[in-house]
Amino acid sequence: MSRHSSDSLDPGSGLHQRRVRRMLQVSSLMTLLMSLGWGLFFAWRGDWPIVASDAFLCLLAIHGGRLAQQGQLQRAARTLLPGLLLVVLGHALCLDLPTAAAPRTTHLYLLPMAIFSIVVFRHDDPRLRQGLPLLFLTLFVLLSATQFGLSSAYVLPDSLRVPGSWITSITAIGTLLILLHLLQSDLSETSTQEVELRDGITLGQFELFYQPQHDGKGRLIGAEALVRWRHPERGWVAPGEFIPLAERTGLILPLGQIVLEQACHQLVQWSRDPGKAGWSLAVNVSALQMQQAGFVASVLGLVEYHGVAPGRLKLELTEGVLLQEFDQVSAKMHQLRSAGIAFALDDFGTGYSSLQYLRRLPLEQIKIDQSFVADLGRQDCDSAIVGTVLVLGRSLGLQVIAEGVENAEQWQLLSGLGCRLFQGYWFSAPLELAAFEAYAEAGRLPSDWAQPAPEAHEQQQPAFAQVSAG
Ligand code: C2E
Ligand code: CA
Ligand code: CA
Repeated sequence: MSRHSSDSLDPGSGLHQRRVRRMLQVSSLMTLLMSLGWGLFFAWRGDWPIVASDAFLCLLAIHGGRLAQQGQLQRAARTLLPGLLLVVLGHALCLDLPTAAAPRTTHLYLLPMAIFSIVVFRHDDPRLRQGLPLLFLTLFVLLSATQFGLSSAYVLPDSLRVPGSWITSITAIGTLLILLHLLQSDLSETSTQEVELRDGITLGQFELFYQPQHDGKGRLIGAEALVRWRHPERGWVAPGEFIPLAERTGLILPLGQIVLEQACHQLVQWSRDPGKAGWSLAVNVSALQMQQAGFVASVLGLVEYHGVAPGRLKLELTEGVLLQEFDQVSAKMHQLRSAGIAFALDDFGTGYSSLQYLRRLPLEQIKIDQSFVADLGRQDCDSAIVGTVLVLGRSLGLQVIAEGVENAEQWQLLSGLGCRLFQGYWFSAPLELAAFEAYAEAGRLPSDWAQPAPEAHEQQQPAFAQVSAG
């Protein structure tokens, strides 16, 4: 059921992504120009096997550049690097054999390739992040320090290799300098952002926004708490801009604690008002938080300190959290569940879900990912997936909520499939606390709200009734 490629799972901040994209574009362009130039030259000489390898590189550079343009950065890098490695090694071992007149130079391209892989795979699997640069640098050393090569009819003569070594050295070192500049900018921007984020946490610049959640009759049943950064210069900053950095730097731990504290505090405020006491509040929890040995004690401590009523606080976990140390995560969830804390499985359908999770974990709710909701009515298979998730939820006794509901058509399709819980812009975007409470008070449903869900035979409601306490 995996829907997101690693490209769409943001591995870093937006700035890092933009820099990787620029790096890919520079690398694709350099590869294209070099292979085109040498390809034409060797075509003129009639060295057709060499022309074929240059043509292959040209196509690879065009394809890689196009993928980078479309934002498929990981795919672009994974396409470009193996092809480049193959051609560089082929040329270095079969065409560019060192002689007294001219040293081998083709392997100099391995240096920019090492820098390229450091930046592009910085947030990736250690095998790629550390293994690739190590591989490129080892090959570079071997090719620099040895005369090794395969003699063939295509070994280039010194008359060609002497001027060629100048061209290759200049372009390889030029590319290396450009990539080093991009690497340095990337590192310094990330550390500036990290300092800012740390200061923001210390200065209390993070606040919760509340996105309403409704049942099938339009009643407000609670909210999802979504953190926002009140940045002194940039205004409200959305979590997509800082959560990935907070996760990489570990700052998600103090930030997650602030979010939980604000959520508990708010639930207690609401519990004092009979009109609001029945609302639940869902809080997003990151994998790193869940991995902390003291996580359970810290949540239980907060709940107890604030006096949060059981069942009102809900923790949202993504499938990725469950993939790591399933048994430990499951044990922690059971401990928290027995203290009355509910769990929702977020972005359901985008990860590698196993039915085991649903059966073995103390979940209360699954959240159908917004990507399935967005394509409802446009792609038949998405209706089938949503329908299947609803049946699955029902048979396992789990609530199913659809998120990202943006219009009446989606709501109607979801209702028709049996969905009874909704969240999305059609009802409201995430709101500041005062605006959320005003929204609840006004009790206005979307203007094109039509009939309640087919199974609910109540009258059409002009305004949503609030769930009362108890
Ligand atoms: P999420 O948990 O999947 O949250 C839903 C996101 O979808 C929110 O984005 C929300 O504003 C947006 N959204 C809601 N309704 C609609 C709709 O109808 N259409 C569309 N296109 N989008 C809709 P937001 O607030 O920018 O949050 C993004 C992500 O940041 C969240 O995704 C969550 O993964 C993370 N996040 C937010 N707050 C926290 C937090 O306190 N802790 C942690 N660890 N992560 C958080
Ligand atoms: Ca969520
Ligand atoms: Ca979600």
